[in-house]
Amino acid sequence: MRFPASTLTTALLCMSRSAAFVVAKRGASSVCRRSSLMPSFLQLPRMMTVCHLSSSTTSSSSSSSGTEVSKPIEVFRKDYQPLPYKVDTIELDIQLEPRKTTITTQMTIISSSPTVTLDGDRSVIELQHVLLNGTLLQEGTDYQVTASELTLLQVPLHTPFQLTIQVTTIPEDNTELSGLYQDSSGMYCTQMEAMGFRRFTYMADRPDQMATFSKVRIEADKEQYPVLLSNGNLLEQGSCNDNNNRHYAIWQDPFPKPTYLFAMVAGNLGKIQDEYTTKSGRRVDLQIFAEPHQTHLLHYAMLSLKRAMQWDEDRYGLEYDLDLYNIVAVDSFNMGAMENKGLNVFNTAYVLADPATATDTDFERVESVIGHEYFHNWTGNRVTCRDWFQLTLKEGLTVFRDQEFSADMNSAAVNRIENVRALRGRQFAEDAGPMAHPIRPESYISMDNFYTATVYSKGAEVIRMYQTILGVEGFNQGLKLYLERHDGQAVTCDDFLQAMADANPDIDLTLFRRWYSTPGTPVVKYRGEWNEDGTYQLQLEQETSDGEPLHIPVAVGLLDQATGEEVVSTQVLNLKESQQTFTFSDLAGPVVPSILRTFSAPVKLVPLEKDNESLALAFLAAHDTDGFNRWEAVQRLYTSLIFQHLPSKEESSSSSWNYVEQAFARTLDTCLDNSDYSISAYVLTLPSESTLAEEMDMIDPIGLHQARSTVKQQLARRFESVLMEKYSALTELLSQTKELKFDATSIGLRRLRNVLLDYLCSLTDTPEERDRAAQLAMNHYQAATGMTDQMAGLSSLVSIDTPHRQDALDQFYQQAVGNSLVLNKWFTVQALANTPNSLETIQQLYQHPDFTLKNPNRVRALVGAFTMNAVAFHQPAGYQFLGDVLLAVDALNPQLSSRLASPLIQWRKYVTGKLMKEQLERLLAQPKLSDDLYEITDKLAAMAARQQGDGRETSEEAPVIKRDKFAALAARQVEETTTTTTLPKRDKFAAMAARPIIEQQPTEEATSKENRISELQQRCQQRDAIYADLDQAEALVIQLLQVAQDTATALSSNQEVSVSQYQSTLQHIHALLQPHAQYVQAYQAPSTTTRMYQTRVEWRLAVEAQEILQDYRALERMEP
Ligand SMILES: [Zn+2]
Repeated sequence: MRFPASTLTTALLCMSRSAAFVVAKRGASSVCRRSSLMPSFLQLPRMMTVCHLSSSTTSSSSSSSGTEVSKPIEVFRKDYQPLPYKVDTIELDIQLEPRKTTITTQMTIISSSPTVTLDGDRSVIELQHVLLNGTLLQEGTDYQVTASELTLLQVPLHTPFQLTIQVTTIPEDNTELSGLYQDSSGMYCTQMEAMGFRRFTYMADRPDQMATFSKVRIEADKEQYPVLLSNGNLLEQGSCNDNNNRHYAIWQDPFPKPTYLFAMVAGNLGKIQDEYTTKSGRRVDLQIFAEPHQTHLLHYAMLSLKRAMQWDEDRYGLEYDLDLYNIVAVDSFNMGAMENKGLNVFNTAYVLADPATATDTDFERVESVIGHEYFHNWTGNRVTCRDWFQLTLKEGLTVFRDQEFSADMNSAAVNRIENVRALRGRQFAEDAGPMAHPIRPESYISMDNFYTATVYSKGAEVIRMYQTILGVEGFNQGLKLYLERHDGQAVTCDDFLQAMADANPDIDLTLFRRWYSTPGTPVVKYRGEWNEDGTYQLQLEQETSDGEPLHIPVAVGLLDQATGEEVVSTQVLNLKESQQTFTFSDLAGPVVPSILRTFSAPVKLVPLEKDNESLALAFLAAHDTDGFNRWEAVQRLYTSLIFQHLPSKEESSSSSWNYVEQAFARTLDTCLDNSDYSISAYVLTLPSESTLAEEMDMIDPIGLHQARSTVKQQLARRFESVLMEKYSALTELLSQTKELKFDATSIGLRRLRNVLLDYLCSLTDTPEERDRAAQLAMNHYQAATGMTDQMAGLSSLVSIDTPHRQDALDQFYQQAVGNSLVLNKWFTVQALANTPNSLETIQQLYQHPDFTLKNPNRVRALVGAFTMNAVAFHQPAGYQFLGDVLLAVDALNPQLSSRLASPLIQWRKYVTGKLMKEQLERLLAQPKLSDDLYEITDKLAAMAARQQGDGRETSEEAPVIKRDKFAALAARQVEETTTTTTLPKRDKFAAMAARPIIEQQPTEEATSKENRISELQQRCQQRDAIYADLDQAEALVIQLLQVAQDTATALSSNQEVSVSQYQSTLQHIHALLQPHAQYVQAYQAPSTTTRMYQTRVEWRLAVEAQEILQDYRALERMEP
């Protein structure tokens, strides 16, 4: 699957953090919460809710309906067990009828166990009958059905047998968009990854179970659903003999595949067609389907598909393997796209594009996502994952492949900058948060927690490091061996590493393995020393989350300090120890190192000595031959300058301004001299607020916004005439070509010109300046030849107080009528406007007739963007508004509401945290909150509360939220179970309470109630003791911080600090430390580890609390 990366990191902070904070949905296993359709820059990789491994690896049972739920179960990678049976072939017969779809599955199974357990979600499928070798089986004697499983009690051993299962389902009611569902246009389609197939029929729904789907017959109404598609090749189609209004199609996929890669579509679709001949001469028919009125928007996707097919042949020698490749664009699709064998399903936003409706970024994304899903055919489909812990095996590798594809199609340096910006904006935040995890998690409660930036983007960085260490040739050999060795298999990350190692016997990858098991972003520190004998010694140190070293490839070049010439070209240093020194010899004079070129490893690079850092950065900004590091140096200079403008800082140093001014001037002066227009554009762009916020311990969002705006304006004012001159030159250059082109140069020219426009339009202090800026933006908007320039002009205009503003918005609205994707842009551009009354505007748009809470895209276009707008969002009324929206959305779409809640959940990091937290508490107090939002809000409020250490509030207050929550919950359960006969969703806790006792402990009644009560009391006490310990540890840290703060204040205010005072302070600290040595030790660990530790404690406490609650509820049912 693909969750397109964003280049607009401003938008990503909050969303990405939600990924880090997602919490397991207790018990609901087959619910899939995927990355929703939304403005692409708000997209984040967060998908599945809870998924358990199939029943053969755990004893859990589950359901999404909420009527029958199990307790959360932590599944461990080490507990993997192969299935005791194998499904060899599958034949499906799907009869689509209004409100009743019948699915008949025939499978050939061979089993080494007398019982066979299949996955199936009873809340969406209804079992009709089961036949074994043609004989009808009886429920109870021959098989058993629970909420999530069907178990055959006696099957033939070691002999193939035929199993026939018929179920019915109502896709029209499937609002989770997982399994078989109907989209808004009326089309039927499927989404099976990760665990949707069990919502379709009973099956071993896990990736290591690969079967041949030898016959898939789809039958439907001819007029309503003229197009019937599934995986593989079309064998036959025609009218039904018995009913002329219906028709059918029969598909066959010769390649065995896991259930998650199955797909079917039935709808009234238009298409475009083309063909491609592979290197070995196979003719492949290419078809892309969409709603009939959208087919003219599919040509860029087709072009991209052919490029991807060609590229994979050229780069890796990989050819397509079927005669047909189909893509279908679906409006109601929760995520980016899905790589089903031979039948990709795409969100319309990632496949439809033309110059009038799509920006350059939209075009780039279509190309990259089309490539990504196509590349999965080998890395994911032909060789798939053994279990979901191995997700990065297919996703990290395929993201790497699509990045390389985009780099080759466009500009490699630009692509690298964009990828690293996205990685830092999202993955670094995740790695620093409470849910930090290795790219291959060791355990999960919710699979949803692991469709993350870490698994995808950091996973891709790990693959890139293989290539950096082994060289392109060595890497290609390794990939070739991996695909040959494991074709048709479901394998692990270890198998991938083994293939790389076997193909490159001279290189030791033993230590490299640790990247798969180490969470957190490593820090690499450096210090260089020039010696008179012509040597330069570079000392590198690494810090990791567990203190053990990783194998980190550090690409380094050296520049002569006197001339700026590169004297040592890029070399890869293999850092494998905690501290290593590398020596370069035969140097003519002092050098400046350029370290971590092209971002050769996903680490944070910091100097051991900060003294001359800015000077060195300024030097690199001017001279580095590595485009990435030149960009990086300027970004770090900007960051330093912006931080000096924060309200909490006293004053900025003039040297910082000088360095920035020089770098800016140089870039601006030369920006038209070469064709790297995009690089220049990125060098001239200040780091986004979200990127900057990631580097702050406590965020003052308004102060940060102002600091960044101030620096931007200072630069605009200082360089106004040059900016204008270059802007005009670019306008002239662009006007020379009549045709709108989408090559790297044309995109770069537009990108650069739009950055200059943004600076020029930031000068609006006087009425004259405002008029000038407004006129410039309006001209830009009106003269635009494509959506990119239109959006740039409009974005500038909406932040200026001018009558042109409304004129342009009205024009744009007229243009958007009938095109949902363009209308979303109209909402977003206003929601992001930098004006004093932006909140008011957003609230008015919320009432606009085109706004609907039922369309997740639309909600994110307005509300998602609103939470990225610091001025609008970070005020009491802004928080209140989000709270209102969340309540309204929650009643319709719990997945969406829990997602939108994420900006509030970061309250701990904000100076306005108390106000944000109030909204969380307000949500928690609602009696009718959905399980999704309730759980996220409750869990995260508690987690954040436990982690607070900023002294804004008393530490006693926080834990109460959580503890009271359980008490309140318990009370509510009692109330609800006594007043209702049907089980409402919230009642899952009651059901949970009842079940384990009956199912797991049948002899429990023999134990006296008193004994059990006292046992429970003990457990409660233990739990409280853990809370008390944590509280103590936290209180201690706060006290220590206070002592340190007092001492620092005393010292800085020049108060006389006598030796005896100092000693008494030390004694005070010592006294505080003494009784809490073990907690101090815990807190001394690197912060990532500490937070992970806390998170785990939280989880265990939550599980324990639930169990206690269950037991209490069970006790209530027992006779005294
Ligand atoms: Zn993917």
